[in-house]
Amino acid sequence: MKEKNFCPYCGLGLTEKFTEGRMRQYCSACALPVYENPVPATSVVVADEYDRILLVKRNIEPKTGWWCLPGGFLETGESPEQGALRELREETGISGKIDMLLGVLTNEGRFYKAILMIGFLVRSFSGTARAGDDADDAAWFDKDRLPEIAFNSHRSLIRIYYAGYRQNNPNPAYSP
Ligand SMILES: [Zn+2]
Repeated sequence: MKEKNFCPYCGLGLTEKFTEGRMRQYCSACALPVYENPVPATSVVVADEYDRILLVKRNIEPKTGWWCLPGGFLETGESPEQGALRELREETGISGKIDMLLGVLTNEGRFYKAILMIGFLVRSFSGTARAGDDADDAAWFDKDRLPEIAFNSHRSLIRIYYAGYRQNNPNPAYSP
């Protein structure tokens, strides 16, 4: 995890100070705490007609070589939905449409202290999965054959999809 050492506004070295209920990094020149807020990221559970989900094999830190959901950090100027679909396209070549929000979770980060993970479900999409940016592989997995998943928040979103959402909301397009 990366720590901020200098004030982003005036460049002075930061100290620590108990303020607003907890120890925080503090700039004595600005007389202000430097807040650490979770960084928003998105991920998508893409489910196909066989109820398999799409995973990507990471080729960057953290968790190089592990499988995870397609997704990444939100950029300034995009909506969460746009960010999620952009990452999906970049990492897998798949163009998708957001079905619904699956969940919003917080997760400890490797580079950031905390991540706010916004998870979406995508069930209508076009294109063939192929590994793109930040990925060595992109592949479909059956529910009972999932590999170990890199991040807790992604595991939770997969669980939400298979355990709760799917039973109560069968995909009309795929129902017999
Ligand atoms: Zn300052």
